[in-house]
Amino acid sequence: MSYRANPKRYQEITFNRCGHSGIKLPAISFGLWNNFGDRDTLENQRNMLTRAFDLGITHFDLANNYGPPPGSAEKNFGRILHEDLHAYRDELIISTKAGFRMWDGPYGDWGSRKYLVSSLDQSLQRMNLDYVDIFYHHRPDPETPLEETMAALDHVVRQGKALYVGISNYNAEQTKQAIDILQEQRTPFIIHQAKYSMLDLTIEQGLTNVLSEHGIGCIAYVPLAQGLLTNKYLNGIPKESRAAKDYIPFLNERDISSDVLQKVKKLNNIAAARGQTLAQMALVWVLQQESVASALIGASRVSQIEENVKALDRSDFTPDERKAIREIIE
Ligand code: NDP
Repeated sequence: MSYRANPKRYQEITFNRCGHSGIKLPAISFGLWNNFGDRDTLENQRNMLTRAFDLGITHFDLANNYGPPPGSAEKNFGRILHEDLHAYRDELIISTKAGFRMWDGPYGDWGSRKYLVSSLDQSLQRMNLDYVDIFYHHRPDPETPLEETMAALDHVVRQGKALYVGISNYNAEQTKQAIDILQEQRTPFIIHQAKYSMLDLTIEQGLTNVLSEHGIGCIAYVPLAQGLLTNKYLNGIPKESRAAKDYIPFLNERDISSDVLQKVKKLNNIAAARGQTLAQMALVWVLQQESVASALIGASRVSQIEENVKALDRSDFTPDERKAIREIIE
């Protein structure tokens, strides 16, 4: 039987305005960086995407190179979208990006107009879409003039291939420069995708101020530090975890240092006293930051998405909790 969405899905989650734009994002968004490649089963991918949507998660985040192999996450997402979610396209915010190496030669990486425009064409083809809702430049390019990269973002909007644009991994100064150009071009630039969690506070050193000042929303990626900010690594590395998978190079044994584990244990105790899991506390914690509209999670199974959305049942912090958390993480 074909998928029918939960009619109560919009009662399950809260939505936050993304900067000063017209778009509201679900407080929890879902990213397909891992677990959506060709090594993962389509059935699990389908179950996660449809369950996420049933819980009110309307935003799915991709990039040209997500997999492995690169491109396979967009292809698999496109298939599930058309088989199960096509009736809901207008209820979805689908984003993709270009900026990391995608194909051989000098035109398949970084930030040239040539790369960005052709990469988005390829992404649309893989997902079988006419347009994406947000197209990001994935990382700053030290060699291409920023004017060229920003003009490429503007171009894909004028072509009707993206409704809004964003940038990712730009620091405060680079972001300010991008804002100046994009404003002059009148490009609908609404969002910055930045790394932010209780284990990585870098954006607090200037970027969040720039974003708030200019009405640009922030979506916090890797808010669970790839799973470190859950209770899963407290007693070793579980077999099915990201750190145990040798084909995922982004998290390994070295990252799970005794220093990190000590912090995680203390944070886990605070979460327990609040009646939450650590994952839940870590998610509502990033949402406290003024410019953060959404926490962009990943998951390897449906139960994680369910647990994470439940975080929103307790999103306030007492001054004492805030102080205790800051003492651990700073
Ligand atoms: P998270 O920090 O949310 O980590 C997700 C992982 O944590 C899951 O795969 C799972 O790992 C574990 N996990 C999640 N929920 C729970 C839970 N409740 N209990 C126990 N473990 C849990 O984010 P990701 O690292 O997955 O990144 C999220 C998204 O951010 C990406 O998909 C992508 O869209 C975006 N991103 C953007 C980048 C950029 O440069 N712009 C860079 C990186 C990511 P396990 O597999 O071990 O079960």
